[in-house]
Amino acid sequence: MINVQKFMFNPFHVNTYVLSDESKDCLIIDPGCSDGVESLELTDYLKDNDLKPVRVLLTHTHIDHVIGCNAVEELLNLKPEAHQAGMVFLDHSTQTAATYGLPLDRNPVVEKYLNEGEDITFGNSKLEVLYTPGHADGSVCFLSREDGFVIVGDVLFQMSIGRTDFPTGDFDILKSSIFDKLFVLPEETLVYSGHGPETTIGFEKVNNPFLKDDNAMY
Ligand SMILES: [Zn+2]
Ligand SMILES: [Zn+2]
Repeated sequence: MINVQKFMFNPFHVNTYVLSDESKDCLIIDPGCSDGVESLELTDYLKDNDLKPVRVLLTHTHIDHVIGCNAVEELLNLKPEAHQAGMVFLDHSTQTAATYGLPLDRNPVVEKYLNEGEDITFGNSKLEVLYTPGHADGSVCFLSREDGFVIVGDVLFQMSIGRTDFPTGDFDILKSSIFDKLFVLPEETLVYSGHGPETTIGFEKVNNPFLKDDNAMY
């Protein structure tokens, strides 16, 4: 059984998630810590719970989701894994960070690329990678079929969806990602977003104002 711990970091209030199981191995998803205090909050949690971080995963490579990658690499000796299509953002991270006044002295380096349908294993647990572009190229979701949850980054939020006005954003592609990859999941599937509170697939199918019109199809 996977335990999901949520942290809220940096001026963009990104949700950073630590997923662990009874083996004490854990994953860090979207390290958003942007200063020493936030990094310490993350590493204290790992220490206090005897967790061993084994992989760092990125839902996508927008600056608010990757700003803590270098700190995590320095503190935990782990480089992030991301979809290759997200390199277009990652390779400009220092410039983007500077425009928002965030400190970042080098572009994060990726350990390995993630691919659609790939299984992410850690401890006794497994997540499946879903490729879900539309908010940003390189956006992926991490699905636990066994535990009934999905980590969606900025693809879907409670009563909202990801912005499509950044480079590579596309509303129709985002809608396809949500309908074809997420709304086919069981209604009770818990949705952990990149910002804001949790929701469920069933709740969003009925209540999400950005997706409502198309619900007639389902
Ligand atoms: Zn984003
Ligand atoms: Zn974001």
